[in-house]
Amino acid sequence: MPAKLLDGKAMSAAIRTEIAAETEKLKQQGITPGLAVILVGNDPASEIYVRNKQNGCEEVGFYSRTIRLDESVSQETLEAEIDRLNRDDRIHGILVQLPLPGHLDEQAALARILPEKDVDGFHLINAGHMLTGTEGVTACTPKGAMYMIRSTGENLAGKEAVVIGRSNIVGKPMALLLLRENCTVTICHSRTVNLKEHTRRADILVSAVGKAGFVTEDMVKPGAIVIDVGINRVDGKVRGDVDFDRVKETAGWITPVPGGVGKMTIAMLLANTLEAARRKAVHD
Ligand code: NDP
Repeated sequence: MPAKLLDGKAMSAAIRTEIAAETEKLKQQGITPGLAVILVGNDPASEIYVRNKQNGCEEVGFYSRTIRLDESVSQETLEAEIDRLNRDDRIHGILVQLPLPGHLDEQAALARILPEKDVDGFHLINAGHMLTGTEGVTACTPKGAMYMIRSTGENLAGKEAVVIGRSNIVGKPMALLLLRENCTVTICHSRTVNLKEHTRRADILVSAVGKAGFVTEDMVKPGAIVIDVGINRVDGKVRGDVDFDRVKETAGWITPVPGGVGKMTIAMLLANTLEAARRKAVHD
């Protein structure tokens, strides 16, 4: 029985329509949500991500600005740019496109962004909010993945959830969001012994590894919700971590790549920016 498709393209289009309507209302109050993206250097993948973010902003009626800095920019200049955006009232969200060139301190740059403008949810204050389940900005990719899991309508409490990957931007926050839904959560990583034993127990399996075709059919419990976060370039094509064609025969629900979590990540970035603009409007 083939799995039902969790269609990130359709889901994110519906979310963007809602965001556009909310943006229109805010504009009538004199507020236009604004997102600034800082791009250092000219990594081709980063260029594509930034362009997609810019297009997303334009589509929903946001103000958007891309600040391009030279590959050799100093930490001081980068942070001065962040400070300028922190002070800029037109900007509600600031995003530093990662990865940064090796000579720059990523953590220091992210820490420089005001937590309320940190629409990526990577600032330590927002990571702390995520850990404690208090109000803050939730990282876009896990937030989008969680939205897709909830959209199945399944009762999540008590379900076995397995996350493969423990990065600060995907794996760990994903696990925390599943825990918040009262799932029983296991985090697997490169040192996990007998990975398959864990994944075969999973009612919800999230893969954030970064290896094409890593999750094979024999690793998946029949009927499971399979969320593929991976973005891998193989022979010029984008592929996920999951062997989609085979796993879809076993899983109950599955996300495609492309057209899955990636689309939702941008939708959640727009949602976080809208929320930041709303919060600012309430506080002013
Ligand atoms: P990282 O490289 O930071 O993390 C990868 C994780 O996978 C690590 O925790 C690593 O374990 C684990 N891993 C590697 N090999 C194995 C293995 N053989 N068995 C089990 N675990 C393994 O990547 P990110 O979290 O940043 O990203 C993961 C993927 O998601 C990438 O493909 C990335 O491009 C994609 N991504 C997609 C987004 C989207 O919008 N859809 C957004 C962000 C990322 P260990 O910690 O032990 O090294």
